[in-house]
Amino acid sequence: MVCQKPGLDTHLSQIIAEYEDKKAEDVIAWALGTFQRRAAICTSFQAEGMVVLDLACRIDPGVRVFTIDTGRLPQETYELIDRVRDHYGIDVEVYYPDQKELAQMVTQHGINPFYRSVSLRLLCCEVRKVNPLNRVLQNLDAWITGLRRSQSQTRAGVYKIELDEDHGNIIKVNPLADWSEQRVWEYIRANQLPYNRLYDQGYASIGCAPCTRPVAPGEDRRAGRWWWENGVPKECGIHLRTHQGALSR
Ligand code: SF4
Repeated sequence: MVCQKPGLDTHLSQIIAEYEDKKAEDVIAWALGTFQRRAAICTSFQAEGMVVLDLACRIDPGVRVFTIDTGRLPQETYELIDRVRDHYGIDVEVYYPDQKELAQMVTQHGINPFYRSVSLRLLCCEVRKVNPLNRVLQNLDAWITGLRRSQSQTRAGVYKIELDEDHGNIIKVNPLADWSEQRVWEYIRANQLPYNRLYDQGYASIGCAPCTRPVAPGEDRRAGRWWWENGVPKECGIHLRTHQGALSR
């Protein structure tokens, strides 16, 4: 394994194995202690992201937090970002799509290309989410996410600490990898965390407004994402291991 942080590469395998059995707060403390301001939480302010943020703020109130504003987020998510800023007294770093790239896509394919084909949906995710994220990660040594193994098949194999080969061999930290959805909500309620009000309207996973709908009882929790697509992973490309060929146009 290779890692950008000097001295870490030879121990990374042991660290990954060691931290698989550790609590979420221990995993976060390791990441923040090791990488300091070269580590940041990446969140779209879904339920899992709120838990990670809360745990991290208890360890380091100055923790860096960033989000990608695709320009198509629900009003409820924008409203939550401001509530989070007030609640924790933190700055939220907001990053945007490249305006030239975005204008080119909209000019060529229209404002809502995602409903027309999987290929165009993936193009939109690439322009509005994946490329901005890639630019942020170029300046980080570690990013911290709210991924859980039980969220979907495509996430079933995540480790709490990973070498992120898709983003220049930086470290990806998934402290909630072994948490259940129930545990996430128990934490949110017990600690009275702010959360996205769309959850109270039947949403189970929240992304961009035109690509997210509520789910029915018993439906897959990510069924409301790109609900018109069949046989395609419910992923935008940010977390999918594209080098494994799991998602291609
Ligand atoms: Fe575009 Fe929908 Fe992807 Fe958002 S979720 S970036 S609107 S395709």
